[in-house]
Amino acid sequence: MRIILFGPPGSGKGTQAKLLCEKFNIPHISTGDLLRAAVANRTPLGIKAKEYMEAGNLVPDEIMIGLIHEVLESERAKNGFILDGFPRTVKQAKALDQLLDEMDVTLDGIISLRVEHEEIIRRLTDRKTCSSCGRIYKSDQLKKENPNACPYCGGELFQRKDDDPETARHRLQVYLRETKPLKDFYRKSGRFIQIDGMQDIAVVHEAIVGILRQNRLSAQKESM
Ligand code: ADP
Ligand code: ADP
Ligand code: ZN
Repeated sequence: MRIILFGPPGSGKGTQAKLLCEKFNIPHISTGDLLRAAVANRTPLGIKAKEYMEAGNLVPDEIMIGLIHEVLESERAKNGFILDGFPRTVKQAKALDQLLDEMDVTLDGIISLRVEHEEIIRRLTDRKTCSSCGRIYKSDQLKKENPNACPYCGGELFQRKDDDPETARHRLQVYLRETKPLKDFYRKSGRFIQIDGMQDIAVVHEAIVGILRQNRLSAQKESM
């Protein structure tokens, strides 16, 4: 299965990707996670990306397109992937189309999560991530007596620097300007489905699973 999770920052892409990756046993590829790891390890990629990320701007297309080639052509992504955070510009989407063509594979779905602007800011500024297992939380999912420990693995939780209110607002503007236009690009391709991301995490998950099953059935019919 090959899918793209699309949506503004804070719409729940990472949360849903983790649930899908456990359910279907396919790798979760988050370009944001890959970049953050590169920054932490001070690799050449991380050194190039750091300033853009801290300011809440997009990392340049050439760098991101190089990265996605490397990841999708790797052994890990051979049997499928859940792409979270890529593509974010029309140029990236065109490069991805070309790459998938070359690999002779197709996408099973482009799933777009729709969330209201005020809710996006609320979610981003309330997000905590586990430094050990990478799980994502909001404060009401944390234990009152120990709000800085991961409920799953006990790891230390941290707040992303780019989730401060000012940078969060800027990232939303960047999304509206540079990423949202991609919706029209993908609408033309079929297999683009919008989901109400304001619903509970479990409800959104079930909606995505339902859509993927339906897409599978229609793909099977098409090939018969
Ligand atoms: P969020 O989960 O809040 O949407 P991500 O973790 O996906 O954010 O991305 C964090 C940052 O990493 C972005 O603000 C941007 O600087 C950079 N980034 C991630 N993916 C891309 C991409 N496809 N193109 C450009 N920049 C990216
Ligand atoms: P993205 O990857 O799109 O930036 P995340 O999955 O990291 O979004 O979610 C952002 C924040 O919102 C996290 O704190 C997460 O726990 C919370 N969140 C995710 N989905 C929902 C939802 N359906 N309802 C309420 N909060 C959510
Ligand atoms: Zn953890």
